[in-house]
Amino acid sequence: MKRIAVLTSGGDAPGMNAAIRSVVRVAAAHGVETMGVQQGYAGLIAGAFTPMTVRSVGGIIGMGGTVLGSARCPEFRTEQGRRQAIAQMQAHGIEGLVVIGGGGSQTGNLMLHRMGFPVAGVASTIDNDLYGFDQTLGVDTALNTALESLDRIRSTASSHHRAFLVEVMGRDCGYLALMTAIAGGAEQVVVPEVETNPDEVARELRQAYERGKSHAIVVVAEGARYNAERMAAHFREHLDQLGFELRVTVLGHVQRGGTPTAFDRMLGTLSGAMAVELLLSGRYGYIAGWLAGKVQALPLEEVVGHKRELDPKVLQLAEVLAQ
Ligand code: ADP
Repeated sequence: MKRIAVLTSGGDAPGMNAAIRSVVRVAAAHGVETMGVQQGYAGLIAGAFTPMTVRSVGGIIGMGGTVLGSARCPEFRTEQGRRQAIAQMQAHGIEGLVVIGGGGSQTGNLMLHRMGFPVAGVASTIDNDLYGFDQTLGVDTALNTALESLDRIRSTASSHHRAFLVEVMGRDCGYLALMTAIAGGAEQVVVPEVETNPDEVARELRQAYERGKSHAIVVVAEGARYNAERMAAHFREHLDQLGFELRVTVLGHVQRGGTPTAFDRMLGTLSGAMAVELLLSGRYGYIAGWLAGKVQALPLEEVVGHKRELDPKVLQLAEVLAQ
């Protein structure tokens, strides 16, 4: 291989830039040129390629977001869109592709692989919903950001005897919410994986109030049936029964931004390097990510299309800890 391309797709995640930098520099060390694709699969279809050099990726390792831009591209879900993407790469002499992104992006990547194009992936999403890996790129930073917010909310909550519903991201996966709740010492956690009765949440808030707690924090996953807004709407009819005054904070996109943690810089760097090595050694259709204490490659066929479950023991622990 003499020329490869790299793109970031779907929701952006802190650490993507570390992965891009690593792809470009490891490829260059093997005498391989890297083209950066603008705006994910949309740029692939449009042929929006820019040559990247070891210098052009200087200074980006500590930056959040992605210098290549990211997008959601419905056209790529069609076979015609993917054919055009392959034709664009062939016309530009691109012989392999690294896709940095989450579940949707890696599904698209697997489609390219099945069409015979050499691909590799980097497991990257703050949602941690990719099956097979312990922790995806961006999760550590997002978790730390959510925790920082939770700590701030707790101090104001105690001053005013308030209960807070704090909504965190994660799409259909409760991982980020569960870990934020555990590491942030929240009173309760609501995740999509577990059916939650809002009346039960209200009862537990009331009990916490009666036990003399100065505040109560409920971490709610955005993908839960009762997200923060719906839960609050449910409570509003019997607010007087809660004891606490109620406030809602949706953390939203602050969790995506910010400078990546040491772990995410390291993970992005090692995963990007592995993705290039997979391509150059002819092992196509694999994805690199964090598993059992190191970066490992799994076949995209094994990762895509499966649902990642929450560890029931950790869920149970969250309940035990909130006393
Ligand atoms: P993420 O990669 O963060 O999970 P999305 O689910 O939005 O984000 O997916 C990002 C992009 O990946 C989509 O806009 C689309 O271009 C591509 N994609 C997602 N699912 C598929 C699919 N089933 N087939 C082909 N491409 C897909």
